[in-house]
Amino acid sequence: MNIHEYQAKELLAKFGVPVPAGHAALTVDEAVAAAGKLPGPLYVVKAQIHAGGRGKGKFKELGPDAKGGVRLAKTLDEVKAHAADMLGNTLVTIQTGEAGKQVNRLYVTDGVDIEKEFYLALLVDRATGRVAFVVSTEGGMDIETVAHDTPEKIHTFDVDPATGFMPHHGRAVAKALELSGDLAKQAQNVAAKLYDAFLGTDASQIEINPLAITGDNKLMVLDAKVGFDSNAMFRHKDLLELRDETEEDPMELEASKYDLAYIKLDGDIGCMVNGAGLAMATMDIIKLNGMFPANFLDVGGGANKEKVTAAFKIILSDPAVKGILVNIFGGIMRCDIIADGIVAAAKEVNLGVPLVVRLEGTNVEEGKKILAESGLPIVPANDLGDAAKKIVAQVKEAA
Ligand code: GDP
Ligand code: MG
Repeated sequence: MNIHEYQAKELLAKFGVPVPAGHAALTVDEAVAAAGKLPGPLYVVKAQIHAGGRGKGKFKELGPDAKGGVRLAKTLDEVKAHAADMLGNTLVTIQTGEAGKQVNRLYVTDGVDIEKEFYLALLVDRATGRVAFVVSTEGGMDIETVAHDTPEKIHTFDVDPATGFMPHHGRAVAKALELSGDLAKQAQNVAAKLYDAFLGTDASQIEINPLAITGDNKLMVLDAKVGFDSNAMFRHKDLLELRDETEEDPMELEASKYDLAYIKLDGDIGCMVNGAGLAMATMDIIKLNGMFPANFLDVGGGANKEKVTAAFKIILSDPAVKGILVNIFGGIMRCDIIADGIVAAAKEVNLGVPLVVRLEGTNVEEGKKILAESGLPIVPANDLGDAAKKIVAQVKEAA
């Protein structure tokens, strides 16, 4: 689960991380009022969307020469003009894709003089299973470019969970940023606070770009991208309230309502599977047969008819899907229940693409019978290999 920059900064401030003052705004008037509460003389008007690269982004509705989604203003009139320009318009950045994202919310912050911009991120290193720091003196620009062109300028190290954050970790951050004296102390402090925030919120990433040295030699977080581990959100009811559903993929959102683990992918074959391991194996075997999965979908161990129907509808609502492979092992879940769900959903949504179903396990014969007697053009498969071959052949034939 991701949150907006303004929410991330408010959250980090609670952990003692230095951020500029600012207020969120939903209308032009609110933006002007927000700026009025700040000391000035410099303000920053920032589009709030769940994507980075806003500064260099372009608004679809404005000309190519118009400014991007992060703009400086010296007067309240300028704040007003920027807010009017941005609200309701579509911002396209390197992270939004061509469609862009509509800007419905702004953040108006105190503008600071920037001496230098750094990059500092915390994330979970999957290889070591630890929280890792990624640090670079090359802030303000997109870190993928830095990693590609000058990888030696990116420093990473992880924190042993047995010791937690230690003073030497703070010194390592300061050293990587080539800081000494008071600024080094500030860097150690910011790193320690960010680590607290990371653990305290079950974050999956905290990316600060830029972490800036201001004109009066203070380290400040000017941009923050924070994401949380969705599986830990039950421990953070307060954070759940920060969720902005308008920023999420509509299909993934629908899936989350039914507690389905669904991730949209780029291929042609929709998959409905129970169990993450079986889902991964199904995706692999589709690839082995020369096509790509359109999604990852794990209906879970205890799925009922409603869940299966919802899953089926979600897969079919994806226009990229050219065929569906259902691969279910009935352990806790009975095959006849699955079959009922498939038949009900297929009838409801008017199945327009080939459907191959492989069922195995509890009540498999009853399940197969329900499918065979449904009158629907469902192709039965005997095992995983057979199922993948059949769906690929069906889709190619239909093309
Ligand atoms: P992003 O483009 O989505 O990453 O948005 P950022 O919040 O990182 O803003 C983009 C750039 O705008 C930053 O790298 C800064 O150079 C600049 N910027 C942001 N806030 C301020 C500020 O308070 N003062 C000044 N002078 N520049 C700022
Ligand atoms: Mg940024």
